Amino acid sequence: MSLAASSSPVWRPFTQHALQPDAIEIAEAEGAWLTAKDGVRYLDAISSWWVISHGHRRSEIMRAIRDQTERLDQLIFAGFTHEPAETLARRLVALTPQGLDYVFYSDSGSTSVEVAIKMALGFWRNRGENRTRILALEHGYHGDTVGGMSTSARGPFNASYAPLLYDVERIPFPAAGREQATLYALEAACKAKPAALVAEPLILGAGGMLIYPPSVLREMRAICARHGVLFIADEVMTGFGRTGTLFACEQANVVPDIACYAKGLTGGALPLAVTMCSAEIFEAHFSEDRAKALFHSSSFTANPIACAAALANLDIWEKGDARETVARTCALQEERISRFANDARFRNARRIGTITALDLAVDEEGYLATIGLELMRFFNARGLLLRPLGPTIYVLPPYCVTGEDLDLAYAAIEEAATFAGRIA
Ligand SMILES: *Cc1c(COP(=O)(O)O)cnc(C)c1O
Repeated sequence: MSLAASSSPVWRPFTQHALQPDAIEIAEAEGAWLTAKDGVRYLDAISSWWVISHGHRRSEIMRAIRDQTERLDQLIFAGFTHEPAETLARRLVALTPQGLDYVFYSDSGSTSVEVAIKMALGFWRNRGENRTRILALEHGYHGDTVGGMSTSARGPFNASYAPLLYDVERIPFPAAGREQATLYALEAACKAKPAALVAEPLILGAGGMLIYPPSVLREMRAICARHGVLFIADEVMTGFGRTGTLFACEQANVVPDIACYAKGLTGGALPLAVTMCSAEIFEAHFSEDRAKALFHSSSFTANPIACAAALANLDIWEKGDARETVARTCALQEERISRFANDARFRNARRIGTITALDLAVDEEGYLATIGLELMRFFNARGLLLRPLGPTIYVLPPYCVTGEDLDLAYAAIEEAATFAGRIA
């Protein structure tokens, strides 16, 4: 007998189909709202898995996509190039922290991290130094490809693939009051001459929306610089306004050696990623010896339509209303999360930029805690797309979200505490 209760042949991501047989079919989206096939509306309070920046179907981005389809759809990106990719690269170099001078295109956050790791290893090998070990932060998340998983926290969701994963040295997360332990551990690890440290700046997303201060990011970067260890900033989630500034590294005045951007690069409309690096890293690969090239490509590298969407997104950041809208979202979020600070039903109510998070004060912990699934259904039934990470509930909305929209989300979160009390 087949266990499958659903009639769909689709195998969905991060889904145990025996527990979640059905998915909600969405027909349309506008701004912060999704409309299902059956007419029910959902507030997209997690920006469709952290990708939608300004709001769904932002008109300038949709128009740029339509216009680009009139000219060039897809092109091999070795030996050929096109205007949207060239202009986008130049504009990204100007916009990102000073010192990120080269742009390597790919199409997902995971791939952008793989490329970053390959850049770091190529850098050392081409210079004739045997430095191959990677350092990563405890609880980090860097994607679901084999390299991404290797650098990410180990847990039930990658246990089956453990034999394929390479070994990484973990630096403890700089939890409040334990920052110095992180810095000592990093200093000690750097003495063994690893190739690079990869870290999500200021907030670890999938690891549970764990926030740490800019001063620690700055110190970590400085320690890496002192030991010649390459510093890779994974800004896949934090990039494009999520933490209140365009890039999280800006808050610490940090320039990484390599930076990864993906989710918000096109405003979330189309898949596109870049790995940016210093001239030094590019130059280590620059040689008449073909063996010293960066050997990476994917079919859709620098897809012209995705690049056009990204250019329209940069216009919104540089000439449009994005910065004001982000500042407004930060203020709306602060007003709402602050009232949970002394609520005993929750722990660690926290905010960075446009993101808030709080943990239900229940005993179950970790991503697989069944409470996460129950809560997801609870929120869906109230017209909300919220997807707790175990007992951690977070709100990561598109920047066009209104105060009234957020009130719906936080009213449901309060109600969830009572609900969780019953099921825990
Ligand atoms: C989402 C995420 C990734 C992976 O990006 P995909 O586009 O899903 O492959 C990598 N790093 C961080 C920090 C992320 O949040």
